[in-house]
Amino acid sequence: MAIELYSFKEIEKIKGACQVVVEVLEEVSKAVRPGISTYELDMIAREATKRRGAKPAFLNYKPPFSKESFPASLCVSVNEAVVHGLPKKEEIIKEGDIVSLDFGAYVNGYAGDSAITVAVGQVSKEKEMLMKATKEALEEAVKVCVPGNWISDIVDAIYRVAQKYGVYPLKNLGGHGIGRKVHEDPFIPNHPINLIQEKKDYKLRQGMVLAIEPMLSLGTEEISHNGDKWTVITADRSPAAHYEYVVAVSKQGPIVLTEFKDG
Ligand code: MG
Ligand code: MG
Repeated sequence: MAIELYSFKEIEKIKGACQVVVEVLEEVSKAVRPGISTYELDMIAREATKRRGAKPAFLNYKPPFSKESFPASLCVSVNEAVVHGLPKKEEIIKEGDIVSLDFGAYVNGYAGDSAITVAVGQVSKEKEMLMKATKEALEEAVKVCVPGNWISDIVDAIYRVAQKYGVYPLKNLGGHGIGRKVHEDPFIPNHPINLIQEKKDYKLRQGMVLAIEPMLSLGTEEISHNGDKWTVITADRSPAAHYEYVVAVSKQGPIVLTEFKDG
C-alpha cells in the first residue's frame, strides 16, 4: 500500500475540487424540504456540477466492494440510512427527517469529497444530539491531523466523542486518502475494532490528504443493507448521521480543504 504525499501546489488543486463539492452540497442542502424526492436532489447535484464544469466522482464509479457502478452522482441517506444512499423517485423527504448528503467531484484532475447531514424542519432532540455529536467527532478528528500522530489517533478522536454522547460509531465503514483519485490509501476505520482487525496503523506525514468521515448512530454499531444493492442502513434501523471533510496534514497544523460558509 502506497500513501500519496502531495505538495502545497497539489493541495491547492485538491482544495479547488473540494470547494466545488462544498458549493454543490450547499446548493443541494437548500433544496432539501418536505415533498422533494431523493432523485430530484441528485438531479440538482448533477446540474450544479455541470454548471461549474466539474465531473461527478460517484456517477458510474465502481467501488471495490461492488460488482456494479453507482448510477447517481449524489448519495442521499435518510434517517436509518448511513451512507451510499441510492436516490429514488419514490423516496420522498418529510418533516423530521435527517438527510445525509455525500458528494464527490473531479476538477482539473483532482478529487474532492464531502458530506453533511441536514435536518428537515423540526427534528427530534435525539436526532439533533446525534448530528451535533457526529460534527464534533469530525472536528476533534481533524485536530489530530498533524505529522507524527497516527491514523489510530483519528479513530480514537471519533470514538471518544461518540462515547461522550452515548452514540455509536458504525463498523466496517470509514474515511480514506484522497487526491488524484477520490478513494486512495489509507483506509481510516470509523470503528476501533476495524483498526485492530487491519493490524495496520500509519504515521501521519506532511502532505497526506485525508477524507475524514465519522458515521454515528443512536442505537447500534452494526450495519445492514436495505436491498437496493447500495444503501447501507443501521442494523436496528436507528437514525445515523454522517459528516465528511478533507484535511491536509501539515506541520503548520491541519488544513481543512472543505470550507462551508456556515460552518
Ligand atoms: Mg464522501
Ligand atoms: Mg469519502
